[in-house]
Amino acid sequence: MTSWKCANCGYTLEKETPPEECPSCKEKCEFLDNTCYTPDCDAQGTDNRIG
Ligand SMILES: [Zn+2]
Repeated sequence: MTSWKCANCGYTLEKETPPEECPSCKEKCEFLDNTCYTPDCDAQGTDNRIG
C-alpha cells in the first residue's frame, strides 16, 4: 500500500493509487508519494517536495 499526501491540505491516505479528488479539501489536488519520508529510506526514493 502506498501512502499519499495531499499537496494542498496535507491530508494523507493509504491507497494503491491517489484519488482524483481529495476527500478532505474536495479539490483536485496533487498527491505526493508519502510512503517513505524518513532519511533512512532515502535510497528508495521519496518525493523531494515533501520536506
Ligand atoms: Zn486536500
